[in-house]
Amino acid sequence: MSAPRAGDRIPVAVLGATGAVGQAFVRLLAAHPWFRLAEVSASERSAGKSYRDAARWLSGALPDDVAAMTVLATDPSAVRSTLVFSALEADAAAIAEPAFARAGRFVLSNASCFRMEQDVPLIIPEVNPEQLGLLVRQRENREWKGAIVTNPNCAAIVIAMALAPLDRAFGLRKLFVSTMQAVSGAGYPGVPSLDILGNVVPFINKEEGKIESETVKLLSRVTAAGRLEMSPATVSAHANRVPVEHGHTAVMSAAFETRPTPDEALAVLESWRGDVSELALPSSPARPLVITREQDRPQPRRDADAGGGMAVTVGRVRADPLFDIRLVAMGHNIIRGAAGASILNAELLVARGILRAM
Ligand code: NAP
Repeated sequence: MSAPRAGDRIPVAVLGATGAVGQAFVRLLAAHPWFRLAEVSASERSAGKSYRDAARWLSGALPDDVAAMTVLATDPSAVRSTLVFSALEADAAAIAEPAFARAGRFVLSNASCFRMEQDVPLIIPEVNPEQLGLLVRQRENREWKGAIVTNPNCAAIVIAMALAPLDRAFGLRKLFVSTMQAVSGAGYPGVPSLDILGNVVPFINKEEGKIESETVKLLSRVTAAGRLEMSPATVSAHANRVPVEHGHTAVMSAAFETRPTPDEALAVLESWRGDVSELALPSSPARPLVITREQDRPQPRRDADAGGGMAVTVGRVRADPLFDIRLVAMGHNIIRGAAGASILNAELLVARGILRAM
């Protein structure tokens, strides 16, 4: 399908529109060339209120037309759009997302509940667009008229984007990763201030398991028969919450089937544009990876907004005495790690003609 004409934008809904990720959807969709925000939903605490009254707006200007919208119940009989972005809290998503898919809607989900299902695409367009092929099996298995397509955990996406080109070139086999994750990753109101100000919390509930399993699925291939052939990589993750507003940092040591030198690894990272650069999707950054050679970068304060928040910044690529290569990657957890990732996935569905065809 070609891009929708100006004035002919596709109406979309945001489920969980009042939360931290939901608000990012509202901001990013305000000026989107293909999609028009038509409906917002949230919990029964918010349903029936105006969006202005229901959402504690976190930053920037709240668009007047969205402020005046009535927040709907998160139910396919109330929300009518075919394309729905889900920023629901996980327990609510586990119930609502299949209900929307059953009702013929395309759900672009930020929640963790379906990401690791064998028939659910876990997509980063630049890395593994072929996982959209799993939708055929999803339809057969579940008899949904619609579909669920997921984007990764906000730390896993940063890690997988940095490693995908190296995996293609050298074959990732082992990864040790330690993350320093921003407070906005915990939603709103999130981590109590007295727990995080001037502090580091070496635990984020369920995060290490998500990083380990999702990174492997993201780097996996889809066979000609439409099944996942899992990557042989083993991942060991340590997740830490740090007093940073936005931007998750991952420090990594990686071992490969073929050992690259740091210069070879840097050359591969610098030349990588991803698998969909020819589609020129509206939310694609010019370079999915920004490579820095400054010895004290990337830093969340300086680099989280690279590529409008859609680029991952990679630096400190050097030899590793335990494994082969050490590197640091950092990306915006709310934009590339959540709302922006979902919107990019929806753009891929439109560009590939899948949104209309299924
Ligand atoms: P949040 O700030 O806590 O927002 C949660 C949203 O879910 C709110 O709109 C809330 O509505 C709604 N909700 C809660 N219970 C509901 C129910 N029973 N029925 C309908 N709606 C309900 O969380 P968030 O950080 O935006 O995260 C949203 C989702 O994205 C989560 O699944 C999270 O794991 C995932 N995610 C977050 C990040 C991040 O960096 N923050 C990154 C990637 C993925 P009310 O306002 O009415 O309560």
